[in-house]
Amino acid sequence: MKFYEAKIKILSPTIIPERRFERGYKGQLSYIPSTTLRGAILSSLYTKGYLSLDQIKAIGESYELLVSNAYLIDNEFKSYPSHPFMYKCKIPHGTDDKGNKIFESKIFISEDEVANSLKSGIDPIFKFECSKGHVAIEYPHPKPVRKANRSEEEFKEVSIKVQSMISVGISKHRASSQAGMLYEYDAMIEGQEFWCYIGVLRDEICKYIKSGLEIRIGRGISRGFGRSVIEKIEEISLDKIIEELKSSNIAVEGKNIIFYSLSPLLKIDDYENYKSYPDILDLKFLMNICGLNEEAGILEIKRVYGKERNLHCGWDIYENTKRPIFYDIASEGSIAIGSISGKNIPLSLALLSLIGYPIKIFNKYVVTGINMLTPIQINSFLWGKNNE
Ligand SMILES: [Zn+2]
Repeated sequence: MKFYEAKIKILSPTIIPERRFERGYKGQLSYIPSTTLRGAILSSLYTKGYLSLDQIKAIGESYELLVSNAYLIDNEFKSYPSHPFMYKCKIPHGTDDKGNKIFESKIFISEDEVANSLKSGIDPIFKFECSKGHVAIEYPHPKPVRKANRSEEEFKEVSIKVQSMISVGISKHRASSQAGMLYEYDAMIEGQEFWCYIGVLRDEICKYIKSGLEIRIGRGISRGFGRSVIEKIEEISLDKIIEELKSSNIAVEGKNIIFYSLSPLLKIDDYENYKSYPDILDLKFLMNICGLNEEAGILEIKRVYGKERNLHCGWDIYENTKRPIFYDIASEGSIAIGSISGKNIPLSLALLSLIGYPIKIFNKYVVTGINMLTPIQINSFLWGKNNE
């Protein structure tokens, strides 16, 4: 399997609603869901004539194409779902040269008392006040955040630019508007960029997923909404991540690792029987779906810190049916504590970071961009050490 980081640019207003109501779609998700993006890439490969309908259906039901959620790029900075060990003080700590208020924001997971507690399997004590003793602090988790460029602000919250629209349907017969056809929706404004990870198993498919590939995302694509393009796609060196993990002294058998999850977490045996996060992950399975014939062990997750959320698995475009919804699973941005036994730990951790641990439901729906666990020290921003 080859791994890529891609930049997606939205070219027309895009509707990815939080919910549907009788007159339209309301709310706009703060990211592009992995299932939406994966479906959009597959549809594009079909409409461009690269692959047949049977071929894309087969890929859709397999682990050959794995896609993560796509998160906003704000002022050239990649945003990430915030984790629970980040706070922002609500009282301004001063003003800058331009008279803008400065709000202290801090990532405190790397502080000794927090990190050591987490590694020892003990619940850490949360901050309830800022550096000036204000108790009016808030935790953004799991809202998206990015690196900030002021010393007082370790992170900045980002938000997708959204416009609300109302359109009125015109009756064919009376040439007048019909109240019943009033349609309201929120849409992401064009021009915004997102980043995501993509894993592709077969080389003959890799060549089609290239920069310049146009894809259609979300609702209303027949009416011109959701036009997007893969603006840039770069292969990620697995070896580089493995080297980083080896030199960091994190990838040690049996030692507790602090994981950051870029995606929601979910364990499923069957639809009726699922859990808010997986307790055991068989890493040999991960090697197999990535086409690697290497030995691997088991990741045991002992504890998870974060909010719960519901996960809608999207719409089945072939059967025109709604896919399952999972309730109260661990949100993206969660922190998990776990340890690994077995061989090839750095390689296993690299795969888990880039494509997570996909799951199959009813032996046919593949949910990718899930269980994407990364040792948090690998990402200096999320670890809170980017100023060192
Ligand atoms: Zn304060």
